[in-house]
Amino acid sequence: MNDNLDALFKPKSVALIGASVKELSIGNVIIKNLLHYQFRGPVYPINPKVDEIRGLKAYPSIQDVPGEVDLAHIVIPPPFVPEEVENCGKKGVKAIIVNTAGFKEMGAKGQALENDFLARARKYGIRVVGPNCQGIINSDPAFNAYCNFTFTYPNPGHISVVAQSGGVGAVIMQAFYDMGIGQRMYASNGNGSDVSITEIISYYGKDEETRAIVLYAESLENPQEFIAIAKQVTARKPILAITAGRTDKGAEASRSHIGGLAGNISMELIYQKAGILTFSSQEDLCHAAVALSSQPIPRGNKVGIITNTGGPSVIAIDELVSCGLEIPPLSKKAAKTLKGTMLESASVRNPLDVVATAGPGHFRSALEVMMKEPQFDSIYINFVTPPFVDCENVAREIAAAAKAGNKPIVCNYMTDKQKWGGTSEILKQGEIPCFDFAETAARALHALVRYNQIRSAKVGSVKKFKDVNRAAVRSILHYALSHEREVLTATEVYGILEAYRIPVAPWKVVSGVQEVVSAATEIGFPVVIKADSESIIHKSDVGGVAVNIQDAQEAAAVAETMKRNLGGDIKFFVQQFIPKGRELIIGAKAVKGVGHIIMFGLGGIFTEVLKDVAFTISPVSDTEAIRMINSVKAAPLINGYRGEKGINRAKTIEIIRRISMLGTDFPMIRELDLNPLFATGNEICVVDARIIL
Ligand code: ADP
Ligand code: MG
Repeated sequence: MNDNLDALFKPKSVALIGASVKELSIGNVIIKNLLHYQFRGPVYPINPKVDEIRGLKAYPSIQDVPGEVDLAHIVIPPPFVPEEVENCGKKGVKAIIVNTAGFKEMGAKGQALENDFLARARKYGIRVVGPNCQGIINSDPAFNAYCNFTFTYPNPGHISVVAQSGGVGAVIMQAFYDMGIGQRMYASNGNGSDVSITEIISYYGKDEETRAIVLYAESLENPQEFIAIAKQVTARKPILAITAGRTDKGAEASRSHIGGLAGNISMELIYQKAGILTFSSQEDLCHAAVALSSQPIPRGNKVGIITNTGGPSVIAIDELVSCGLEIPPLSKKAAKTLKGTMLESASVRNPLDVVATAGPGHFRSALEVMMKEPQFDSIYINFVTPPFVDCENVAREIAAAAKAGNKPIVCNYMTDKQKWGGTSEILKQGEIPCFDFAETAARALHALVRYNQIRSAKVGSVKKFKDVNRAAVRSILHYALSHEREVLTATEVYGILEAYRIPVAPWKVVSGVQEVVSAATEIGFPVVIKADSESIIHKSDVGGVAVNIQDAQEAAAVAETMKRNLGGDIKFFVQQFIPKGRELIIGAKAVKGVGHIIMFGLGGIFTEVLKDVAFTISPVSDTEAIRMINSVKAAPLINGYRGEKGINRAKTIEIIRRISMLGTDFPMIRELDLNPLFATGNEICVVDARIIL
């Protein structure tokens, strides 16, 4: 990783290989954009057939350019790209944006061309963005670099965007523009052949003027590296990401779109692991970015509300509360002060309804008192602009309070923005995040609170258990692999679990009916008898599970029946019967480049019908294990409910961490399923497990 991307984002001169006189061409639009955005340095169109493009002198080749070239766009057809990269190398170009499409995403031939130009770029130490991308923008007035073929000209600001998809990037850029919100840097890196999203995130992380980073990615080249870097960045400033490809269909679409693999859930889990704020709605993400790039981070989830209209505060409260925010009452002292300063008709409580006729003085007092109340971490304002009120001065009070205080403010600003242009401008200059609807403002405030929770959450520790027997597991796995078996036998599975000290119900694997009876007697009745065969995946579906077997006679009868129904050569898995407890499920699934995804949930219908399970990426720390347990909807059943005792959480956490370690130690475990574990009283043990290599 090399995050010095100055040549790319801070170019002093730009050349365009494939510049064109045709107005409707990328080779022309980029020059138009550089000129329109008032790029600070020289622009060199490269085209051997013409003398001039858009009033600029054109050069037959990059080598003919008189001055130095920091950055070159290449917009010519793929077969000619490698040679031009070579020419750029000879000229001393530092960075290249390959806008042209038709490389990796088009198959083997395209991949070969991509490899060819990349090798040449590396030879000269040139960094490459793309191919198949828009390019970059830097709104810093020292550069005004619009090295991009889109159409939105962002004003300087504090939000930086990186998008694998130019379409999503452009729509987000336009959304900020429409809200009157400035932006700092922008990058659409397409195939990401060289400069990676991770490097760009790291670069934005170090850029002082960038206060919030917006990310859109469908896949990541090196997820573990991304997590490590993004974690460092999110400790300093928020990263906001859209989770795309969550559904299977969505994943298919993104796969064919960019040629990368989008894991359905793995992207979301990668973001979670890195401390990134995720959004399923682009609109919510944009609103949150506006708040996060302008406001201080609240220290908690308690909100003070000031409103000059009733209904919107009802809607705001619904949204705030459903997001998990709290609306604590005013202190007695504050209420007393406000009784003296508010209008007669005002409602002095939280929400504080200053009423529609409230003027600047009323808002000032309301803001002063609310900002000082220690039990409020943030201030939510509903501000409608009554024509009979000095709204500009109300706006000035809001802006002044935001400047003086250290608590974030969000505002549901309800007005005709053209008629109240002066008021709007004052709020804008004061960097007050304004939203058209109460619920949008509430959700933006929630994002501020979420970021505080992420930033202040303890990372926890990953435990390396010393009492495990790696050698035993290694030899079991090697034996199975050397026999080209993917599905492990029950003996192997339980052998592995025991080697990692994961508690299992006492068991025995035997062949004949008579052995079933002796095994059951040895384990002690009541027992469970299961059919053990590689070809049976869901044992209970085929009558391969008989529970609560009371004695030798019943055991023999059950074994006879299974033999008859499931084939004479099946083996039997005899296990202690565990009287009913809570059924849990814990699993691990290998994801390329990520490690293992670890799953936790309540078993049975909670898993199968309600899909009430939680995931995280290994290695799982203690805090992450706790978060998983607490985040399932059925958590109250786990923690104890109405007199019913909860399960042993410490043991559950330990099993999750041991499974996580097993996955880390043995990456060849593709899938591992403990389904179910039984939690009875203080004990937990596995009663069914499967491992696939
Ligand atoms: P499969 O998942 O292949 O159908 P299981 O071994 O999970 O087979 O058994 C099916 C169900 O039988 C379990 O979900 C559990 O409810 C019950 N069961 C299995 N083993 C035991 C046991 N040792 N004690 C009590 N109940 C059990
Ligand atoms: Mg099962």
